[in-house]
Amino acid sequence: MQTKNNQFHLLYSIVIGLFVMLVSGFCFADQGINTGNHYGKTNAPFPVDYVKGDLSVMVLGSGGPAVTADGRASAGYLIFTDGQPRVLMDVGGGTYKNFASSGANIKDLDIILLSHLHIDHMGDLSPIVKAMYFQNRPFNLANGTFPPGRTAAVRIYGPDANGLPFPAAIFPQADPNVPLYPSTKDFVDSHYDLYTGSDRYLNIFTRAISAGIFNYQVNPSPNGQGNVEVSPDWTVYEPVTLVHEQGLRITAVAVNHGPPPAEVPALAFRIEYKGKSIVYSGDTSSRSTAFDGTPLANGGNMVEISQGADLLIYDTAIMNDAPDGPNDGVFFQLHTTPSRIGEVAAAAGVKKLVLSHITAVTQSRLDEVEALIREQNYTGKISRAADLKVYNVGMHNHH
Ligand SMILES: [Zn+2]
Ligand SMILES: [Zn+2]
Repeated sequence: MQTKNNQFHLLYSIVIGLFVMLVSGFCFADQGINTGNHYGKTNAPFPVDYVKGDLSVMVLGSGGPAVTADGRASAGYLIFTDGQPRVLMDVGGGTYKNFASSGANIKDLDIILLSHLHIDHMGDLSPIVKAMYFQNRPFNLANGTFPPGRTAAVRIYGPDANGLPFPAAIFPQADPNVPLYPSTKDFVDSHYDLYTGSDRYLNIFTRAISAGIFNYQVNPSPNGQGNVEVSPDWTVYEPVTLVHEQGLRITAVAVNHGPPPAEVPALAFRIEYKGKSIVYSGDTSSRSTAFDGTPLANGGNMVEISQGADLLIYDTAIMNDAPDGPNDGVFFQLHTTPSRIGEVAAAAGVKKLVLSHITAVTQSRLDEVEALIREQNYTGKISRAADLKVYNVGMHNHH
């Protein structure tokens, strides 16, 4: 009897022990790996599981073009309405990898916003388009078929060319009719045009997205008639509605990004849904004056477009005093100082400021960034973006 009982306990212990080893093996499989990595986990939530409410944004990349010690991806944001991914806003290098870890499915996503054509804002465009294709074509193992893909075109919005040519003094051979930066239409066509695009194979392979030839549109107007054009003139406030459908409104306005005569065509965006709003600076100096020193109306376009925003995602790439080496003065014309961020956020009455596009210059000085913002009497909330962090607009929590 005694022996039998011991044998039972021994067996019981072995079974429990094996079970604990099995479970703990799964639990510890990802120790030390980025939280976005879910290989080997069974019940761990994906970042997408934290999305809730009317309007949310998931950070796909909180960095800029320069590598940071904490490994941030370049700029990118996935915006959800009613919990569904609906808009991809910038798609810099590394956003594909973070998207892959997010648990989100973008098979129905059909709006892509590009703030400007710097590589840290659009470098992963083609990888994401291909990912969209695969999410439209889950192979059905049971009957060996592909279901039909969706038919809606992918609409890609971004700045038009501003017409500024290569400076003739430096580039005497340059064609004066070729601008420094292409229009978004020329940029996108140069990738996906069926016969001439460098990524033309995607036009063929992504037929599934549109049940025919890969159907993309660049800057289509909200009523389907022609295209929208956002004036590249950032000295006046002329917001343009890009999208207005099913309660979603997206507006864009030109902002300054860079010194004359090499200004980069660049847009800031405002996304509104069910009375909630997200504003995104893209990259900008947030100037309050024209180049000749003339003050801009109401403090400039960043103040105007950010009015009363629930969430303002801001380019946090430089300090008030850095970069400050030889030839680094240009950075103050490309990006916004912490003091100016504070000034804009205070003037616009923003509820929550999200510091993003964090660089090697700012990542170790974020306490100082926040202090400089507070000195401008900004009293709303401040949050530091991180890759795969989710903000549910108008709700208190974020993950
Ligand atoms: Zn950038
Ligand atoms: Zn830029």
